[in-house]
This record gives sequence, C-alpha cells and structure tokens, in this order.
Amino acid sequence: MIVAEQKPIEEIIRYLEGFNKIAIAACGTCVTVCMAGGEKEALKLASVLKVKSMEQNKHIEIKVVTPKRQCDSEFLEDIAFQLEDCEAILSLGCGAGVQFMVEKFKNKPVLPGVNTKFMGVTRDVGVWTEMCQGCGDCILEKTGGICPVTRCSKSNFNGPCGGSSRGKCEINPDIDCGWQLIYDRLKVLGKLDNLYEIIPPKDWRSSRDGGPRKVEKKEVML
Ligand code: SF4
Ligand code: SF4
Repeated sequence: MIVAEQKPIEEIIRYLEGFNKIAIAACGTCVTVCMAGGEKEALKLASVLKVKSMEQNKHIEIKVVTPKRQCDSEFLEDIAFQLEDCEAILSLGCGAGVQFMVEKFKNKPVLPGVNTKFMGVTRDVGVWTEMCQGCGDCILEKTGGICPVTRCSKSNFNGPCGGSSRGKCEINPDIDCGWQLIYDRLKVLGKLDNLYEIIPPKDWRSSRDGGPRKVEKKEVML
C-alpha cells in the first residue's frame, strides 16, 4: 500500500487561508490503513481546524467526504455533488489522489493534506516500512524476495557495499543491511549460488527515470 503521513497543522492552515467553505476529502483505501487520511483522521482534522478558526474569530464551514478511493473516477463521480458548494478541497489522499482530483474538479483548488512517503507494509501497530520503489523491472527472483533497490540504502545490485556492521546499514544503524537480509534469505533457500550471477546495470527507464509511466491492459480496455 501507499504510506503517507498528515502534514503539520500549521502548513494545512496556511494552505486554507482565505477559504471559508472547505471540503476535506478523505480516502478509504491506503491512507485509511496507515491512519493518515481516512475518515477518522479527516473528522479529527475538521474539528481542529474549526477550533483554530474560532480562536481567530473566524467562521469556516467544513464538510468531510470519503470516497472509497481518490484514484478511481467512479468513486470521484460519487462525491462530485457533495463538493459543488465548497471553495477549496483539502485532499487527504496520496499524491496520486490529489492529482486525480485536480483533473476531475478543475474549477476548484485541490490542496494536499498529507505527505506521501512510499510503498510499504504494516510492520507493527502504528509502524509502516518501505518495501518497493516501483522500479518497473522486478528482480526479487534473484535476491531471495528481498528488494536491493529499496532495502539497500545505496540500491546496490551486486552485494554489499562493505560498510555494514553486525547486519546493520552504515547509512543508518537502525536499519538492517539489505544485502545481509538477502544473504541470509538466500542461505535459507539454499540459493547462495545466486550471488555469483552478476546483475547487469539496470535500465532505469523502466523506473522513474523514463518519465511518467503507464500500464495498459488491452483485453479490458473499452
Ligand atoms: S525490484 Fe523493483 S519492483 Fe521489485 S520490489 Fe524492488 S523496487 Fe519493487
Ligand atoms: S550497509 Fe548494506 S544496506 Fe547499507 S548501503 Fe551498504 S550494502 Fe546497502
């Protein structure tokens, strides 16, 4: 899932300055799971914003809408009528959600309410960690299912940099060395021979370096 965290309240207040009728758009999928932009967080944010505006003798109207996903047209169409009378939309969806809302609601400012961080997993209650950078050419088969692009701080493709200590990364001793994890995993799988295969330099055009990417599934296209 995409992991995000809510922007500092001062920043959000700055974005909303001058608007009196605001819609906070939560999102019912990833940001709900990581507790950054679900309905619960949106309602809480609405209360905080109301209190802050009352402290300044201002009156603002805030409504909360929660499409199942902001990154799908059908769900945005469902909430369109609820957004008609607002002056600005504060989206608590990820960066993709915000930008899709911009395309769908062209006559209103759509402002970001969260910082989109990464694609990751729920590691523990309230803890999420990054697992994939969406490089577009997955090589997990070679590395025992552990991603060198993401889990190695230097995205090394052919073994460790030599700086790890006791299984921790030299960049940050709080994180595991990705290549130590890969080695340990390959050992368990009886696949240490994989380490002799040189992984060639990656063609990063399949990643972000090739510009905005597109996936098409011809058989389901209309
Ligand atoms: S190799 Fe690429 S696609 Fe596969 S997990 Fe790593 S970043 Fe994601
Ligand atoms: S210590 Fe390990 S994870 Fe850190 S940069 Fe070096 S190889 Fe990558």
